[in-house]
Amino acid sequence: MQTSKEDERLILDSIEQFLERDVVPHAMELEHNDTWPAEIVAKMSELGLFGSIIEEQYGGLGLSCSTYAKIVERVSRVWMSLSGIFNSHLIMSSCVQRYGTEEQKKKWLPKFASGEMRGGIALTEPNCGTDLQAIRTRATKDGDGYRINGTKTWISNGIYGHCFAVLTKTDPDADPRHRGITLFLVEKGDGFKHSRKLEKLGYKGIDSAELLFEDCYVPKENIIGGIEGQGFKQIMGGLELGRINVAARGVGVAQASLDEAVKYAQQRSTFGKPIAEHQAIQLNVADMVTRTEAARLLTYRAADSYDKGERCDMEAGMAKLFSTEAALKNSMDSMRVHGGYGYSKEFPVERFYRDAPLLTIGEGTNELQRIIIARQLFARNPI
Ligand SMILES: Cc1cc2nc3c(=O)[nH]c(=O)nc-3n(C[C@H](O)[C@H](O)[C@H](O)COP(=O)(O)OP(=O)(O)OC[C@H]3O[C@@H](n4cnc5c(N)ncnc54)[C@H](O)[C@@H]3O)c2cc1C
Repeated sequence: MQTSKEDERLILDSIEQFLERDVVPHAMELEHNDTWPAEIVAKMSELGLFGSIIEEQYGGLGLSCSTYAKIVERVSRVWMSLSGIFNSHLIMSSCVQRYGTEEQKKKWLPKFASGEMRGGIALTEPNCGTDLQAIRTRATKDGDGYRINGTKTWISNGIYGHCFAVLTKTDPDADPRHRGITLFLVEKGDGFKHSRKLEKLGYKGIDSAELLFEDCYVPKENIIGGIEGQGFKQIMGGLELGRINVAARGVGVAQASLDEAVKYAQQRSTFGKPIAEHQAIQLNVADMVTRTEAARLLTYRAADSYDKGERCDMEAGMAKLFSTEAALKNSMDSMRVHGGYGYSKEFPVERFYRDAPLLTIGEGTNELQRIIIARQLFARNPI
């Protein structure tokens, strides 16, 4: 999908206005109280954010991944947690959009786009995250449908979300293992509920929870794409978008850390002059801005590949790896520029410092990204 420059400018302007008016005044308090931002979520629905990349024929905005990445970057500059609320939802949506049957698209996508039905992706289990083919959640045939049993953990939107793309094993003996993996769309209800809310270092406001499936009956129509054994491939496809999104979050956090450092360095004086005039501070911010710009370019490049329909696991992996490490480094460096005030809850830098590490873990750890990048590098350069 492509978005015209004019449409992109209009949507980014409305996002900036929303952030300034509805998020900036409340983010600090919501974050520190770890409050789920109900009013902001309602505004995000009005803006159409839950349907950003859903095609217009199904009620979405039909934005390109490139425009979507710019939205995520802007949101994360202000409060990264918000981007998780719509991104996990959009990975679920993109699995339906890319791999679902026409009936499934007509049934679910309009509700996903309006935000009437929100959700996320349920992959990780207590025993595995990186090695997803080792999942134990079972979907066993029962008449015209399936019974799902198992536990998922760390699921974003787990408490306030209504439905999830759930990765299951339909054939635990399959060889190779991925052939026995099936992705279901499951709504909360009998046999499917969330249990405890998980407490975290950062990424506050958004609900992370365990999901429990106990003999949960799901009709066979809820298999995404309608055929067993396609789930691993489908979720990997969805995660390409997810990785570009996490890269964009990294750009947002790296930029916000830089912005705060540049502001503070001109306000704070030591030894008779603003610290911005000390060379040690200048070297620091020069590295920060260079890192941020490089992260942005890698992210836009990956998004552009995605929009062109090219294979982009290597590009998305490089963008995710570099941008999230940039966010981590910039948040620490910004804290150093702030001295003692960087450690205070009255400044946003401590939040960037708590949020950034998650980016190196979610949507595939950075160790895994390096493995994906290296494999693709060799695959593209055989001798
Ligand atoms: C706040 C938060 C939100 C999350 N949201 C979701 C969500 O919405 N849905 C969802 O399904 N999951 C979610 N997750 C889970 C997340 O995706 C996993 O934590 C992540 O994939 C890593 O899995 P793991 O924690 O089991 O670590 P493990 O897989 O146990 O890995 C542990 C360490 O070993 C390394 N490692 C593993 N295998 C290899 C290898 N082959 N080579 C080299 N190093 C390796 C990893 O990089 C890591 O450093 C979330 C996690 C957090 C913290």
